[in-house]
Amino acid sequence: MLKRLGDVILLQLSENDSNIYILGDVVVDSGTGFNFTRMYQILRIIKKDPKAISHVINTHAHFNHIGGNGYFLNAKVAVHEAEAPVIESGDEKRSMADFFDGRLHPRKVDVRLKDGDVIGGLKVIHTPGHSPGSVCLYNPRDKSLYTGDTLFADGVGDTEVEGGDPDAMAASLDRISKLDVQKIFPGHGEAVLSGAKKALKEIMKGE
Ligand SMILES: [Zn+2]
Repeated sequence: MLKRLGDVILLQLSENDSNIYILGDVVVDSGTGFNFTRMYQILRIIKKDPKAISHVINTHAHFNHIGGNGYFLNAKVAVHEAEAPVIESGDEKRSMADFFDGRLHPRKVDVRLKDGDVIGGLKVIHTPGHSPGSVCLYNPRDKSLYTGDTLFADGVGDTEVEGGDPDAMAASLDRISKLDVQKIFPGHGEAVLSGAKKALKEIMKGE
């Protein structure tokens, strides 16, 4: 499914695929890769050339967010430095590839992200908790936050997964709650397109 959220394009290919966001020539997360034919069909319809994507930024290295990286043929792959080795070694345990019935082929990470880096106009905020190298990406132009599996429209991310850490999650959520956020673009499910600051408070209260 294709959704246009202002300047941002959201692809939702299946239940198992992460949300795939396209902002100009930058992609945030790439899904499992299992549904690349469907993805290419949609990209053709909206006249978006996958070869013109310059960067794929992964919010973390779980298989359902990174499996499609290779389908953006000319893109540099960026992930937090703590999880670059997962991709580079094809670590099927830490990527949870088995859980998604996937095979993770080792590939080079081009950009190792650190907290405070800016990539494709997005500021990197290291938010460990769901996984050690989870990041949120803040876009100051529209005050949007790409939250991966750290935060969803209806709750916070799971820490009962490979690499999860509840204490780190609490600290990360506290940090996010201090940001000036208008929109939340999560790794799964619906986006929050206005009043995210208020939504954020409600979500935190619920936990
Ligand atoms: Zn995840």
